[in-house]
Order: sequence, then structure tokens, then C-alpha cells
Amino acid sequence: MTERSFTGQITLDGPSGTGKSSVARGVARRLGAAYLDTGAMYRAATVAVLDSGVNLDDEVAVARAVSEAAIRVGTNARREMVTVDGVDVRDRIRGAEVTRAVSPVSAVPDVRRRLVSQQRELVGQAEAVVVEGRDIGTVVLPDATLKIYLTAAPEVRAQRRAGQLGVSDPDKIAALAQDLRRRDEYDSTRADSPLRPAADAVVVDSTELDREAVIDKIVQLALSAVPTGSSR
Ligand code: C5P
Repeated sequence: MTERSFTGQITLDGPSGTGKSSVARGVARRLGAAYLDTGAMYRAATVAVLDSGVNLDDEVAVARAVSEAAIRVGTNARREMVTVDGVDVRDRIRGAEVTRAVSPVSAVPDVRRRLVSQQRELVGQAEAVVVEGRDIGTVVLPDATLKIYLTAAPEVRAQRRAGQLGVSDPDKIAALAQDLRRRDEYDSTRADSPLRPAADAVVVDSTELDREAVIDKIVQLALSAVPTGSSR
């Protein structure tokens, strides 16, 4: 079912493992909106950095590697497209090597400036769009129609991530929890665009809600945020 009366921008920010991506994609499908996964852009940038062989601590070299790569991310909620220099990296960006390196790469201000400008350009092409990330409501689209900050209890987030990866060993789940904590700590304490809710964001805690309930809630908020049939 597509509810087409929404036009505008929905931002969906929050820490890792809250089910943000599948919720964002689900909301976009229900509203017939475009979908932009900005985490995929930072992950694709990380592929470019890893392939260039530069030291992750060298911010200038990291920024240069990203500036020299052609990073393309699609905005179709039904078909994922992520390429670096024309190569499909959809699988690679979800792997452990990229996940380990993405936080330091995305903390580099020059990298953020470049990707944020690309994000605004993609968003500008859509009548209706759901944009997912860490700083979308605070930095990228401060005037968005609706801002959501999605959270969940840390142990629930680790369990969900384990479910996605098919992991059941308690030690491995503990390691996943540790990895989520490390990434959240890094993303929340960096100087440039740290992870935090925008002052006007609606905070949705998904600890006790399943994916469909979260999608329903956001779709209702979106439809009540714009008068039916209105356009920007
Ligand atoms: O959402 P996802 O887990 O794919 O994001 C990967 C990483 O990219 C995050 O841990 C964060 O370091 C970075 N990121 C960011 N700003 C965004 C989206 C993602 O810094 N808007």
C-alpha cells in the first residue's frame, strides 16, 4: 500500500542497530518516497580509503582518497545501488573491514563536507524523501518536514544485529554489543556533527516495538505533518 499524500523530507537519525535502515526503507515505500542511506555513502567512502592504502590517521590523505573516488548511491527504496568508481560495493560495505574503519573516516571534516553536499543535491531532486543517518536532522536538513530520532536499549540492538547476521553464540553477541558501543561512542563524541537528537526531533524508542509498529508510527506522524495534497 502506498500513501502518496506526503511531500517533504523525513530525517531518521540514531545509533547503530536500532533497525533504522529497514524502518527508513519501509516508511519510504509506504509513502512512495525516495530513500537515501547516508551511512552507505560513508561506507563507500571507506572502501575508497581502504583501497588507496592510506593510513586512517592521516586526515589529509583520507580526504584526498575520498575526493578522488566517484561515489554513487541510489535513492530508490526498492533497489539498493552503491558504487565506487563504477564497481558495485553493496556487499563489501557491510563487511567487518569497512565497519571497523568507517567511524574514523566519517569523522574527517573534509569527507563530511563533500558527502553532505552530495546528500543535499540528491535530496533536492526528490518531492518526498526519507533520509537516514546520524546528523541528518541536526546538520544536513535542519528544516526537514519531520525529524525522527530512533533509539533502542543496547542489549536489544545487539540481539537484532545478531539476528540479521545469523549469530547465536553468546560470546559473539557480546562482541557485537561491544562493537556497537564502540561505534556509538566514537560517533557521539566526534567534534564534527556528533550523533545527537535535533531539538525538534520526535524520539521513538523501538525497544518494545516491532518494525511494522515503528513504520506505522512514523507514517502517521509524516501524514499529519503535511496537509493532505499539499506540496512544498
Ligand atoms: O548507518 P551505518 O551503520 O551504515 O553508518 C556507518 C557509519 O557511518 C556510522 O557508524 C557513522 O560513523 C557514519 N555515519 C555518519 N553520518 C551519517 C551516517 C553515517 O557519520 N549521516
